[in-house]
Amino acid sequence: MCWGEEHGFENLTIQAMQEDYNNEVWITTINALYKVSVAKEGGQNEYSVVCLDRNYSQDWNDLYEFCSMRTRKGELCFGRMDGFYLFSPENVVFTPCVISPLFTGFRLFNESVSCGEEYHGRVLFTQSIDKVRSVTLNYDENFLTFDFSSLNFVNPSQTYFRYRLEGADKKWNEIVSDKGQGSVVYNNLLPGEYTFHVMSAGNDHVWSPESVFHVTIRPPFWATGWAFVLYFLCLIGIVILGVRYVYRKNNQKLIRLKEQQEAQQKEELNQLKFRFFTNISHELRTPLTLILTPLEVLRKKVTDEQVLRQLDMVYKNAQELYTLVNQLLDFRKIEMKMEKLHLTAGDLEEFVSALYANFQPFAKEKQLDFRLELSDAHWYMNFDHEKLHRILNNLLSNAFKFTPEGGRVVLSLSAEEVEGHSFANITVSDTGIGISDEALKHIFERFYQVQHPDDSKVGSGIGLHLVKEYVELHEGTIRVESQPGKGTSFIVRIPMDLKVEEEAVQETVTSDDRKKLLIVEDNQDFRHFLKEQLSEMYQVIDAPDGEEGEKLAVEQNPDLIISDIMMPKVDGLELCRRIKHNVQTSHIPVILLTARSGDEAKISGYAVGADSYISKPFSFDVLLARIKQLIEQQEGRRKEFRKTLRVNPSRITITSIDEQLIQKALKLIEEHIDNSEYNVEQLSADMGMSRMNLYRKLQAITGQTPTEFIRTIRLKRAAQLLQDGKLNVSEVADRVGFSSSSYFTKCFKEQFGVLPTQYSETDESGKTDEK
Ligand code: ADP
Repeated sequence: MCWGEEHGFENLTIQAMQEDYNNEVWITTINALYKVSVAKEGGQNEYSVVCLDRNYSQDWNDLYEFCSMRTRKGELCFGRMDGFYLFSPENVVFTPCVISPLFTGFRLFNESVSCGEEYHGRVLFTQSIDKVRSVTLNYDENFLTFDFSSLNFVNPSQTYFRYRLEGADKKWNEIVSDKGQGSVVYNNLLPGEYTFHVMSAGNDHVWSPESVFHVTIRPPFWATGWAFVLYFLCLIGIVILGVRYVYRKNNQKLIRLKEQQEAQQKEELNQLKFRFFTNISHELRTPLTLILTPLEVLRKKVTDEQVLRQLDMVYKNAQELYTLVNQLLDFRKIEMKMEKLHLTAGDLEEFVSALYANFQPFAKEKQLDFRLELSDAHWYMNFDHEKLHRILNNLLSNAFKFTPEGGRVVLSLSAEEVEGHSFANITVSDTGIGISDEALKHIFERFYQVQHPDDSKVGSGIGLHLVKEYVELHEGTIRVESQPGKGTSFIVRIPMDLKVEEEAVQETVTSDDRKKLLIVEDNQDFRHFLKEQLSEMYQVIDAPDGEEGEKLAVEQNPDLIISDIMMPKVDGLELCRRIKHNVQTSHIPVILLTARSGDEAKISGYAVGADSYISKPFSFDVLLARIKQLIEQQEGRRKEFRKTLRVNPSRITITSIDEQLIQKALKLIEEHIDNSEYNVEQLSADMGMSRMNLYRKLQAITGQTPTEFIRTIRLKRAAQLLQDGKLNVSEVADRVGFSSSSYFTKCFKEQFGVLPTQYSETDESGKTDEK
């Protein structure tokens, strides 16, 4: 068996061993003396080791190696550096501890707490510590010291203690005390239950029974069970709130989504309704226009009073229907935000006066005192003529409608200065039935109509809504003042300094490469109708009479003109004649519209050079087909010019003026064909035309610019020469005025798709190229 620390040996460097007469073995190390005794217990050897060390006597030091003996008397002798020890084994006293240790003190933060003493406002021990053997502390009272004593009074200088704090220490700890007392410190103890165990032993290392001391460290209030219950409840509360919040959020989202969907559906339905509205209105308007236009002609022709009266009635009702349909279309445009302001300069006074004149017949018919009041001002300004026309038309129609016979309607125009800006005030006031205060609040809402007891005044309730929208488009305001039974005044105020937006105009000018049509027609409704219908496919400009029409034709160079025959100032026939006789416009095809269905008119129509003739009433499709046909014909002629080798002026022009012009141009180029210096400047000078006009004409007739035209003629001549086969390529190039034969070859290839050399090889007279 091996002996070591577990048997009570310490620093076991044995110096000597000696057995005494009691069969006990005494062992010395450098600084201690051990007694090992053996007892037989149940057939087993029980060994016990007892130590007397330096603590017992300072003498136990400097013991010598292998130097021991036993005297005959039984004394033992151990050698030292400077002598020897001699002692009788019976005389060595061992002090066993038989009583468990006694707790003698308890300290908190190194401050002693004793029986009956207050600590932080409370008494911890009501009895002596050894009796109490337990204490309950707060969570922050966790720095404690246990003081204990072994009650070993015989030989206190060799007292051993073993202790363990159950709940904190894993192992037993051992300390030695030379006074028979010990103390142990614990700090930073966590809340919980602890039991302090301590036992003691004397120099014989026989351990006494344990003494125990219970310590309870209470958790802080926020770490108690109740606190955790509270936390748990709070957590549950938060979770519930969170879930509810998310649920509510989702719910709201769902509701919003649903609302959006509903709104979208509503909007779609609205759109559908609007589209239906528009389609129906369009469908209604076309036949209505076609009723109204010949009706107008008819009214002028008929002399029979009775028939005339009936015709007037038909006309008036058709007109009303037409206005209503137009209102519906305007309304849709406004609702779809498609309406834009088209500002043009004009004299507002003139404009208002013309309108006044228009309404005069109605006033007379209804025996109303209709007055116009104008004030002096500078009335030349920008405004949207069409929209202002509709605004005033609506207001005046309402005034006429709601003013009984004999009443008065006043249309007045005055200027006003507000914050440095000039405004035009246009007022329509009447002495009619007036509008109640309640109705006044809603008067500009769409579809709003005042309930009239007699129900005689029918309408759609969109008139004033449109008026307001149009006024607002003008950046203006509209106000209404009314007294039931006395009368109503509508005051429209629009700024006089509105500016035309240049960019927008330019954009439409440059970006639109559709064919341009000019409509000349004195009937405004019909003109607008045509314009609107044709605008879908063409750029459309319009003029109210022949004079304006001619001006526009020269300025704007349209691709086709549609003109009514019966017009004030210059009529359609004269316009057509002038167009065809002016070299600047003679290439433009003209369609004449007329109510005169006799052949006579047709002949005179053609005599003035009209390209087509359509009698009213006509089907719109017929007009469309005719326009298309004429434009295609023009294209065809241009193609023909490019295709054929020999240019035939009569085949590519429609008027003799144009024919002469082309002939002259051909002759001039032919004369200078070998002159490479002959260019556009010289050609236009020889033709007696401005470069611009020449450009326009040649573009219109041949689809080519003058430069291209000259080059084409040279190349065509070259092709003929090559076909003759008498000259080689460079000679031909020279003959037709190309200074470089490589440039000639390049141009030739571009024009005819083959090289000049290849062209001369395929010798066929009258050949045409494919380009
Ligand atoms: P409607 O097309 O039905 O005439 P409006 O929007 O033009 O619709 O007018 C709405 C309502 O305002 C009319 O129904 C009418 O009762 C009332 N109203 C408009 N102008 C006048 C007026 N000058 N005098 C009296 N009532 C008017």
